[in-house]
Amino acid sequence: MSQIAENIKKIKESLPDGVRLVAVSKYHTAEAVQEAYDAGQRIFGENKVQELLQKYPALPDDIEWHFIGHLQRNKVKMIVPFISLIHSIDSPRLLAEVNNAAVKVGRVVDCLLQIHIAREETKYGFSIDECDEFLRVGEWKKFDYIRICGVMGMATFTSDETEVREEFDTLKQFFDRIKMNYFPNVEYFKEISMGMSEDYPIAIKAGSSMIRVGSYIFGPRIY
Ligand SMILES: *Cc1c(COP(=O)(O)O)cnc(C)c1O
Repeated sequence: MSQIAENIKKIKESLPDGVRLVAVSKYHTAEAVQEAYDAGQRIFGENKVQELLQKYPALPDDIEWHFIGHLQRNKVKMIVPFISLIHSIDSPRLLAEVNNAAVKVGRVVDCLLQIHIAREETKYGFSIDECDEFLRVGEWKKFDYIRICGVMGMATFTSDETEVREEFDTLKQFFDRIKMNYFPNVEYFKEISMGMSEDYPIAIKAGSSMIRVGSYIFGPRIY
């Protein structure tokens, strides 16, 4: 078995029912993605539009491509025709742009709201307060070509597990609260995308429904 296949198997064996694995293939080759695909992996995450547009046509049709990085509004239309889930909606304007582009191609696009839970200031995302305000104002309810399926967050990059756990707990509590207030009977509002190579076991304990794992599967990225 290849190293990639072995790594995927190890992670999958440790996943509770209902938690899905997004294999983050950014900076890795189409060949590496194919290897993971041959091991049964079907969901892949990319964070750059150009890189995704190169890999997408070169790989099997039944791959579910997820977009996980900061998305510029002028590039939205390039991925909307085929993307399965955008994890990184970080502003009201971006969500409006995805809806516009989706209307044009007649395809409903699933999205997650990216919430800033980390201590670091550089990471994108709504603050909890901004997201509350955005949901309260309610313009999103007019967007017929997007579905808000849940939330995504990244914890602080630290070896302090307590801090990481608190941040994931914060995201889970926020998810529960907005589900109750805005999406109580919406069956597709169920995703909490949290957990990466270094912290996914903590994220799973905190209630993650989707982990995004790159280096643990594919090895270190060469930039
Ligand atoms: C790169 C990336 C990951 C995967 O990171 P690893 O530490 O390699 O597992 C997960 N989520 C996002 C948003 C990323 O950009």
